[in-house]
Amino acid sequence: MTIFNLGSINIDHVYRLSAMPRPGETLHAQSYSQGLGGKGANQSVAAALAGAQVVHLGAMGMGDDWVLERLAALGVETGAIARLADTVTGHAVILVDERGENSIVLHGGANLALPADLTDRATFGPGDLLLMQNETNRQAEIAALARKAGARVIYSAAPFSIPALREVLPHVSILAMNAVEAQDTFAAFGENLPVEGMLITRGADGAEFRDLRPGQVWHQPAFAVKAIDTTGAGDCFTGWFAAGLSRGEDPATALRYAAAAAALQVTRKGAGDAMPNRAEVAEFLN
Ligand code: ADP
Repeated sequence: MTIFNLGSINIDHVYRLSAMPRPGETLHAQSYSQGLGGKGANQSVAAALAGAQVVHLGAMGMGDDWVLERLAALGVETGAIARLADTVTGHAVILVDERGENSIVLHGGANLALPADLTDRATFGPGDLLLMQNETNRQAEIAALARKAGARVIYSAAPFSIPALREVLPHVSILAMNAVEAQDTFAAFGENLPVEGMLITRGADGAEFRDLRPGQVWHQPAFAVKAIDTTGAGDCFTGWFAAGLSRGEDPATALRYAAAAAALQVTRKGAGDAMPNRAEVAEFLN
């Protein structure tokens, strides 16, 4: 079964500085690094490293070929990623000061200009999964297409937006949220959501999957690790959980692997570049 992932692809530009620049001030950065990011790319990488067949549906500007090469090297199928001449690849400028505080400027670029013919290169079928997050355009339209073809849709309600969630919700099978997003969702829509399941992650407090059809809940504690960078932890968890479901694992097993993968991920710096592979997760659980 294939996992299609309609998602953002970002280049993270990380600058370390002694202090944040004030308005009108120019500062030299102490260091610069470039990484793979975007909730979409992060989830694609996580699911591919978890062993799933992953086709990424998204868009980039011209150039930046290293991004496609890195996605492919990590096992993500990149043939359906559109290259757009009139916009740039999505990117984030991340400033980190000596205290570890950050300020981020995000530019959606190609992620918000996905072309209408994007799905011409993707054929959804029964048993397939469509992953989505709220960092691209065309979410509701492509989710409806996938559901019509018999695929299930897993939607991460992040970055959280009530209008975006309202539009896509009728097409969602499983809604994935962190604790804050879950609180905001229940406040806006109540707890009786028209979905078959909900995945709720609660940072170091673990995660749960609620199957709303039989009305069953599975709880998964977080593994105790020394976290140094939790960026992308939720994406790692969701990608691994989706990979488990796509190979027919029961929720308890899929949750356990996802929690182990996310525990490893938070012990490393970075987002897309910090996702663990199957061998690492197997060794961690041993
Ligand atoms: P998000 O990154 O979307 O805010 P969470 O913070 O809920 O998501 O984290 C997702 C998952 O990552 C958690 O359910 C947990 O399994 C794992 N995780 C996050 N923080 C830690 C931590 N400090 N220690 C161990 N696991 C963690």
